[in-house]
Amino acid sequence: MAKYIFVTGGVISSLGKGITSASIGKILESRGLKVTLMKLDPYINVDPGTMNPYQHGEVYVTEDGAETDLDLGHYERFICAQMTKFNNVTTGQVYNTVISKERHGDYLGKTIQVIPHITAEIKERIKKVAQVSKADIVIIEVGGTVGDIESLPFLEAARQFSLDIGRDNVIYIHLTLVPYIKCADEIKTKPTQHSVGTLREIGIQPDILICRTEKILTNELKEKISLFCNVRKQAVIEAKDVESIYQIPLVFKNQILDEIILSHFKLICKFSDLKDWEKNVVERVIKPKNKVVIALVGKYIALQDAYKSIYESLIHAGIYSDAKVEIRRVDSEDIQKKGPEKLLKDISGILVPGGFGYRGIEGKIKAIKFARVNKIPFLGLCLGMQCAVIEFSRNICGLKDANSTEFNPKTKNPVISLLAEQRKIEDLGGTMRLGAYPCKIKKNTLAFRVYGKTKISERHRHRYEFNNKYRKLLEKKGIVFSGIYPKKNLVEMIELKKHPYFVAVQFHPEFKSKPDKAHPLFREFIKAALNLQK
Ligand code: GLN
Repeated sequence: MAKYIFVTGGVISSLGKGITSASIGKILESRGLKVTLMKLDPYINVDPGTMNPYQHGEVYVTEDGAETDLDLGHYERFICAQMTKFNNVTTGQVYNTVISKERHGDYLGKTIQVIPHITAEIKERIKKVAQVSKADIVIIEVGGTVGDIESLPFLEAARQFSLDIGRDNVIYIHLTLVPYIKCADEIKTKPTQHSVGTLREIGIQPDILICRTEKILTNELKEKISLFCNVRKQAVIEAKDVESIYQIPLVFKNQILDEIILSHFKLICKFSDLKDWEKNVVERVIKPKNKVVIALVGKYIALQDAYKSIYESLIHAGIYSDAKVEIRRVDSEDIQKKGPEKLLKDISGILVPGGFGYRGIEGKIKAIKFARVNKIPFLGLCLGMQCAVIEFSRNICGLKDANSTEFNPKTKNPVISLLAEQRKIEDLGGTMRLGAYPCKIKKNTLAFRVYGKTKISERHRHRYEFNNKYRKLLEKKGIVFSGIYPKKNLVEMIELKKHPYFVAVQFHPEFKSKPDKAHPLFREFIKAALNLQK
């Protein structure tokens, strides 16, 4: 039977529950356990797919085509388990199911209530993940902050869990903030006491506290927290700010958090260290030998989380080449207004990410032209590929009004147009071309050199596609169509000859990069950028 670890957050949001949960997963996985993670999101949207990146951050796409919370990206980057549509549960999904069941008459005349019906559905979904994944340990990150109205049903379900399957089989971990007050030169435990108090009011006594702090937690402070929060002192874990998120598993391991968890569950596991992770990931991230500056030209650059997986993938490629990748976030609308020369000065690579809608497009196209003409390594992702096609069609093929029908439905030269399968779709939620599809790579291309094979599979999230009517013309003018989805003859990858690295793809390689296994497209992009620098 699986064991369950619930991770809740207190005091403030943005303490890093996702990375904490993923890191706990990492140290348990290293002990030989099969671990999976899941996220419970309190919002009423069915999934984050229809939300603006400024509301929610990146939408992470799983192999099976679910649009999920970006924390699932952290999970896949830290541990081996593959996330599925079951690993992200939202209030919207839970209510959707319960209301459908009620309409179907499944509740036999009962009054449907938050307790027990909504909580039963939540517990069902948690058990489903355990069943599908066959994991020994399921780590459940509860979204929101303790005290929020929205997350109460999730916390109530978490409380009931130990009633259902036994207290020994459930661990509650509470991530909290222990702030340092500068003018008093003191670390304060009161917010943590209150937050744990709130948890206890709803019937959850945490077993482990993880304390985010700027300063060292002294023995004395740990004792105080332990006493007031009723948590063993050994289980008060310090999580002092670190340089890289990839250090967190080591921070936990050093405080034997894995042992504390295993002994609660009465599990005996093989011994492990995280030496490989420390050597191959952490040390390279913290003390890189080289440095390279990459420009990311997007429109959601003000928000740290909007391109999360892309930023991480660039860091992974830096780890591979022992280089710090400094990311210069450039607003595509600024390029539109001021031109690329000034804003893209002194950079060694240009990346244009995915996106939706016309705002900022002309700036992205200018940045791509700048990369093409000046032979600066370029990586285009999804919308980035579509913009590269538009740029080439306009400036090399002489199709002055070339565009995507997403931006100009009446263009005479729709080089990017709606996928045939998308024409009849009316609902916006969950209806894009989503998830993993195979792609066949042509031999003797840059793509083939990068991947080293002809058959690959990558994840997608789009409605528009290269218009094959223009294939011959663009090919004649120098574009290589190096990757195709064979079943429907869809263009997946394009590249340019006579350029050190100009690759654009319709898919999202950023969802499959790992710190100790950089994605080949990012790895070679950074290599090319380092070469240019030399
Ligand atoms: N807006 C484009 C499309 O729907 C690109 C999507 C993306 O970049 N994820 O095809």
